[in-house]
Amino acid sequence: MLLALALLMLPMLTVGSEPQERADAGDGMVYICMGNGAYAYHRSRSCRGLNRCTGGIRCVTVGEAVSLGRSKPCGICCR
Ligand SMILES: [Zn+2]
Repeated sequence: MLLALALLMLPMLTVGSEPQERADAGDGMVYICMGNGAYAYHRSRSCRGLNRCTGGIRCVTVGEAVSLGRSKPCGICCR
């Protein structure tokens, strides 16, 4: 599990100062679930908290997430 995570992180580390690709949220951007009962925003698109989402996932700013009721940072990917 940790090894798989390390392998996932490796390409990011080798990219250096180049801009991140769209697959990852940039600075200030977070992912939120649009389903009922969601209350947190996520830094990682692949967070297991988002895997349970039933209403679609949107990439928004933290401000938008808060105004949509997703005001808490996810305890899994935002530590
Ligand atoms: Zn999360």
